Amino acid sequence: MSFSDFLGNARVVTALRGMLASERVPHAMLFSGPRGVGKFTLARMFAQAANCERLRDDFCGECEACRKIGLLADTRPLIEQGLAQRGDRPDSATVERVPLLLETHPDVWAIVPDPVRPKYPVVRPVLHVGQLRAVQRAAYFKPQGRRRVFLIDGAETMRWDLANIFLKILEEPPESATLILLAPNPFQLLPTIRSRCLQFSFTPLGTAEVEEILRASTKLRPEELKLAAQYAEGCPGAAMGLDLEAIAKLHRDALAILERAVELRGVSDLFAATAALAKSQEIAFENILEVFYSLLTDLLDLSSSSTKKVLRNPALQRELETLSKKIDVAWINKAVEGFDVLHARTRRNINRSLGLDAVAISLTRPSMGTKKSISR
Ligand SMILES: [Zn+2]
Repeated sequence: MSFSDFLGNARVVTALRGMLASERVPHAMLFSGPRGVGKFTLARMFAQAANCERLRDDFCGECEACRKIGLLADTRPLIEQGLAQRGDRPDSATVERVPLLLETHPDVWAIVPDPVRPKYPVVRPVLHVGQLRAVQRAAYFKPQGRRRVFLIDGAETMRWDLANIFLKILEEPPESATLILLAPNPFQLLPTIRSRCLQFSFTPLGTAEVEEILRASTKLRPEELKLAAQYAEGCPGAAMGLDLEAIAKLHRDALAILERAVELRGVSDLFAATAALAKSQEIAFENILEVFYSLLTDLLDLSSSSTKKVLRNPALQRELETLSKKIDVAWINKAVEGFDVLHARTRRNINRSLGLDAVAISLTRPSMGTKKSISR
């Protein structure tokens, strides 16, 4: 294990290694970017490199410090352990008195939003004052190794009045401690906090990179890898939590809607199918539209004369080939235009089901539209 195992956002990795090499490490950093893009992973790797017993601007992954800090790679068992220690259904005083801290090495702590009652989540997980105060105290301890590092995940969930606790640490920075705040968007933090952090924004990865990470870190089969990478939107961490069965079903359902639209099987069927699809709570509506785009792109490829066809939905190849024989490029273009309109409207919060129905109905009447290429 080393920084070379981290794919994507090379710019950020280079900057972090430069700081470690020159021993000019800031007291506070803010990593921002979409969920699952790798912010926590890189922050953990930074903590390893800052304390590795063998290397200075990288980490070996094998020394005691590296191994202990490396346990933060999977936070789930640590969170469960922390919650179990606090007892079932603790009251709010206990939550503050026994703050949830993930500590696998004396110098490195991770704090994550406290789920409070994981079995009955009545409130969204937030960072609690007890957690922030614990960090405030510990930040001034002398490190046993080289540097104390605090990973503050979900920094956007801390109440703004409590954020002053951090402000105090940042105003009187401890000698050898670094706070790394993680949040999807820097503007979710108080400007006074933001301005005292060295900021790094993480950008989504390419699909090929996501696939590579998933191949190395999961046991997915090749066709599942493709599907997961396609859905991850550049965030490998998000792909790992995907329900691939649900996604495969979504693709089949979306294809069924297109098939019905082509075959004029009757509007009532269409309503049932579109309503069911729009009610999918698990998957964002924008992702449902992406499914239609990917199916239409495959149909366009199959309708074209090119010899090499690499489908985005190889699992549905036979169905797509059958369907492609019943439609023409004009029909596909009309469908794409319909979904483009719908996509623009979703940002204005139209009724999901109505919007999908309108597109599906318009497609039940094949018409010769103008030729226009699909830009997706
Ligand atoms: Zn090491």
